Amino acid sequence: MSTPMTPSDYFNAHVDDFLDEIGKIIAFKSISTDPAYKPEMKKAADWVKAKLESLGFTVNVIPTSSNPVLIASYVADPKKKTVVLYGHYDVQPVEPIKDWNSKPFTVKRDDKRLYARGIIDNKGQFMMHMSAIESIIKTDGKLPVNVKWLIEGDEETGSADLDTVIKDNTELLKADLALISDGEMIGDDNPVIETSFRGVVNCELKVIGPKEDLHSGMFGGTIANPAYELAKLIGKLYDKDYKITIPHFYDDVEPVSAEEKKLIEKKADLEKNILELSGSKKFLGEKGYSTFERMGLRPTIQIIGIETGYNGVGYRNIVPSEIRTKFNFRLVAHQDPKKIFEEFSKFIKDNISDAVTYELSEADFVEAVKVDINNEYVRKVQKIITDVYGKEPIINFVGGTLPVVNSFKDHLHIPIVSVPLSQEDCGMHSPNERLLLDAFKRGVNFSIQALQSIS
Ligand SMILES: [Zn+2]
Repeated sequence: MSTPMTPSDYFNAHVDDFLDEIGKIIAFKSISTDPAYKPEMKKAADWVKAKLESLGFTVNVIPTSSNPVLIASYVADPKKKTVVLYGHYDVQPVEPIKDWNSKPFTVKRDDKRLYARGIIDNKGQFMMHMSAIESIIKTDGKLPVNVKWLIEGDEETGSADLDTVIKDNTELLKADLALISDGEMIGDDNPVIETSFRGVVNCELKVIGPKEDLHSGMFGGTIANPAYELAKLIGKLYDKDYKITIPHFYDDVEPVSAEEKKLIEKKADLEKNILELSGSKKFLGEKGYSTFERMGLRPTIQIIGIETGYNGVGYRNIVPSEIRTKFNFRLVAHQDPKKIFEEFSKFIKDNISDAVTYELSEADFVEAVKVDINNEYVRKVQKIITDVYGKEPIINFVGGTLPVVNSFKDHLHIPIVSVPLSQEDCGMHSPNERLLLDAFKRGVNFSIQALQSIS
């Protein structure tokens, strides 16, 4: 008598078919940051809806002011546990297209990797869970657990309506836990469970000098140069130890706890990967903290763009009339983004030269969030990860932001298990976005076991 096929056997025997299926969702140019791709957004959402229905899910399409959110449900047995999975079908733009070695919306495969826009962020990752679901259904006939999906189309533009959608649909989304895969492991194969995400303030500052660009021979040295005055202001943001000097900035920041320090020390030998990945000369940041502390548990302010004067061929000798710069704050738990923005406005007012004027405009505010990992689900997932990847997962304090985590925490009040399935060197948001074939296979096998163990 032959042993019956398991879902993992089924998946392992059909890897190519699952990759073909991923190729179909990749093919939609669902770039949410550019309204020109609106029809492609709709096609991608329709494809996901049909896919879910083919697997036996009931799908609700929730319209928003931008792209629809899909909430789907599969009831295996009302008495069993329910897990809600998350994904997003929108992607980042592909520019600069000349830097791609293959067509961004066609999956290219070599010995080790798959390349395409969205292959890890996030189509490829949510399709790993979808492949796991399909493998289980194809072998066992049904799922061992109730599964819900929340799949949105505006993650890359800040998920503006997602919080309201979740708040208004708590009944549809009712579950025992959330399982989220949207991010990276450490290195190629060090699995992680994510326990905190930093918050965000994005804002733009315009410093204004003369009414138009002026001849520097005539006016240079007699009036304020806004670029120089802005540089002086930026120079004051940090002290020599890379501490932010904005008054009250650290008032609500929790000190790094002994337990957090212990978790971070566990992965100390992975620091060199970060430096290598960055291609930078050396580490630089707030004095008194390790790299992983700075990355996940300490706030930072980044200058993300500056535009002024003349940068074309040759020289146009002027005093520029204005300079525009964008700031990206990464905040930590308990810092209130609105309060931080107000302190920053006050800092500018108190520190900028009175020889210029300025305009400060706010954009995104997202609160940092900490996720409790002291529960049975995390313990189960830890065990499965150790099994599938051959090593224990690292508890990770994530430097980035994932708005859905905030909304799940605020409105669903359920345990959140965040397990990224992509390797770290993934080119997220960059040309040649890539997924290791190994990471794909392990990701699906992890998901199969996770779904089986939750029931
Ligand atoms: Zn992204």
